[in-house]
Amino acid sequence: MEVRNGETFQCSIGNLPQTLGERTKGMETPIQVVLRIRPMNQAELRRGEQSVLHCSGPRTLRVSPLGGGREVAFHFSMVLDGARTQDEVFQGSGVQRLVELALQGFSCTAFTFGQTGSGKTYTLTGPPPQGEGETVPSSLTGLMQRSFACLLDKIQHVGTPITLSASYLEIYNEQVRDLLSRGPHHYLPVRWNKTRGFYVEKLKAVKFGTFEEVMKLLLEGLRRRRSSAHNLNEVSSRSHALFTIHIQCPAVSPSRPKEQTFGKLCFVDLAGSEKVAATRSRGELMLEASNINRSLLALGHCISLLLDPRQKKNHIPYRDSKLTRLLADSLGGSGITLMVACVSPSAQSLPETLNTLRYASRAQRVTTRPMPKG
Ligand code: ADP
Ligand code: MG
Repeated sequence: MEVRNGETFQCSIGNLPQTLGERTKGMETPIQVVLRIRPMNQAELRRGEQSVLHCSGPRTLRVSPLGGGREVAFHFSMVLDGARTQDEVFQGSGVQRLVELALQGFSCTAFTFGQTGSGKTYTLTGPPPQGEGETVPSSLTGLMQRSFACLLDKIQHVGTPITLSASYLEIYNEQVRDLLSRGPHHYLPVRWNKTRGFYVEKLKAVKFGTFEEVMKLLLEGLRRRRSSAHNLNEVSSRSHALFTIHIQCPAVSPSRPKEQTFGKLCFVDLAGSEKVAATRSRGELMLEASNINRSLLALGHCISLLLDPRQKKNHIPYRDSKLTRLLADSLGGSGITLMVACVSPSAQSLPETLNTLRYASRAQRVTTRPMPKG
């Protein structure tokens, strides 16, 4: 399909990966988990809170509850403390490996997980712009902007012409909304078929070729996310946002068209993982909370089944939520998934921090990569 930059076409977000198991076998685990501790914020400093999290070595976190509770240790691919810069997080997270694999035709996903206020959005895109038209200083840009630059740089060194396009969607209350669509917004269905895997019907993908063009798409979607009607109650912390770059590499030899590859690089800003108190959860809030819990639980459930060697790998319940359907090919198929677990160092956040740490340490034990089925 011929599309010029800035034009749109319908795409599948869930292109099935090729049979890639062999190509990455033994090279890396399918889910890498990095922990990022944000610095204390002003409110925590004013309250005189103490940090209960301590790094001992580059991969180990010690949690020392105040008041003499038992110290617990957690191990991750990398632990990044509050003094780490955005660039150090980019270098340390291994996201550049995802960019490389996506260019080879794999489906790769980076997602941030943690309670609201723990630094998920900051890690992906940096601090929010201060005013209309303001941009984030380059030293503070997040994993997404840095990965875009890395991808475009790598492409310059590849001899063949590569087609890039981006799609951006939000899952709110189990409904999928296109963040790049200008018209009146309606919800799009998630479907499955043998050739495409799970995909969002009528989702727009916009072709781009430069850093400025892809940034324009990101900012357009972020603005649409912030200004939607239900955003009045900060829905962005209760919705999942998926920004996907589709990478189409042509066959080197026209006589062997099967060599064409379709890679995918997806960034997911997950909804806050905190439990919503039952007393606050009435009506719409209750529905929201149960949908968030449902999708994060479904994600955790799929991950723990992938972990279980006795589990039949073709029975992973990806269908349990829209989120797991759309992440099925990176979780269970091929490529790698990077999870950045975000936590606050404060004692007050400890119960939620422990939930995040347990969820994250379960995730990194996934050792198999079965292909997802519908
Ligand atoms: P979340 O997306 O998890 O709800 P945010 O990314 O919005 O959380 O972060 C909450 C606040 O903390 C924001 O004001 C953000 O700019 C700030 N923040 C988060 N992480 C860091 C960090 N590593 N360094 C400085 N400020 C941070
Ligand atoms: Mg956020």
